[in-house]
Amino acid sequence: MKPHQHGPTPTWCAQDHQCKPVLGEHRSDPITVDLSGLARALLTRVQVANGAQHADIRVRLALHPNERLARQQLRTLLAGLDEVLGRAAMTVPPRTTGRRAA
Ligand SMILES: [Zn+2]
Repeated sequence: MKPHQHGPTPTWCAQDHQCKPVLGEHRSDPITVDLSGLARALLTRVQVANGAQHADIRVRLALHPNERLARQQLRTLLAGLDEVLGRAAMTVPPRTTGRRAA
């Protein structure tokens, strides 16, 4: 790891043009899931200036020209995202927000 004003550079940092160490932000090389032109997803690990990390996900899905079928695709996509994000979020304990319960 290389030190700089916001702390050491994470070992997974791509150290390319998307990494902004001056601002304390680091980004990994994206991991790509590509379904032969029908769908594509890019997952990038990000660390922001306060040290918190998150996954940045961009998804592109080819939609059917028929509106009813396109909406069905979107419902399927949303249901799948809800399920997979819920599973991924449940693998770590919730963060304390500093707010007290009323
Ligand atoms: Zn970096």
